Amino acid sequence: MQKVVILIGAPGSGKGTQSKFIKEHFGLAHISTGDMLREEITAGTPLGLQVKDLIEGGKLVDDKTMGALIESRISKDDCKNGFILDGFPRTLEQANMLDEIFKKHAITNAKVIELRVDEDLLIKRITGRFTCSKCGTIYNKFFKKTKIEGVCDVCGSKDFTIRADDNEETIKKRLDVYNTQSRPILDFYDKKGVKFTIDGSVDFEESKKDIVSIIEK
Ligand SMILES: [Zn+2]
Repeated sequence: MQKVVILIGAPGSGKGTQSKFIKEHFGLAHISTGDMLREEITAGTPLGLQVKDLIEGGKLVDDKTMGALIESRISKDDCKNGFILDGFPRTLEQANMLDEIFKKHAITNAKVIELRVDEDLLIKRITGRFTCSKCGTIYNKFFKKTKIEGVCDVCGSKDFTIRADDNEETIKKRLDVYNTQSRPILDFYDKKGVKFTIDGSVDFEESKKDIVSIIEK
């Protein structure tokens, strides 16, 4: 049976790292809606052309089009073991639509995994982040400092960059958006009994084990 995972987590929750791990560990396809839109456009499919028109016209891709895209994506060969959905659904309407798609494709075992991380920790993870300009190594002033202050451990460069939008005000706004958007979706799946919560504030090695046992259940 296909393994289907819907991963939900705030910015800084480690969703990217977990997705990559799940993908490799279980041999699943990683479906990120942003990547998927770009792929369809590049491939020049009828849907891709439709999406291109919408985006070029400054419009958002509507739910119906997103649904069609997801349906076409999950029918591809690399999804035969299963897939991870990342970045979808974002609204209750989308969650309902996804249910219909799953029914149509006889998918009955989708699991929703919420990566929950304490807000103060998320803020530190994001605002503390700095990157070596030369080799790209990522550090954090709270959790992963350079061994010698101001010098990259890997390449010795003294040049670092901080992303302009990694400031506390911007992060708090993004977290507010995330909380408002995700709460009704998480409740929706909770009522269906398919929602599992992982503590994303612990060490990655530890949360990995929890994720594996949920998906294998
Ligand atoms: Zn470096």
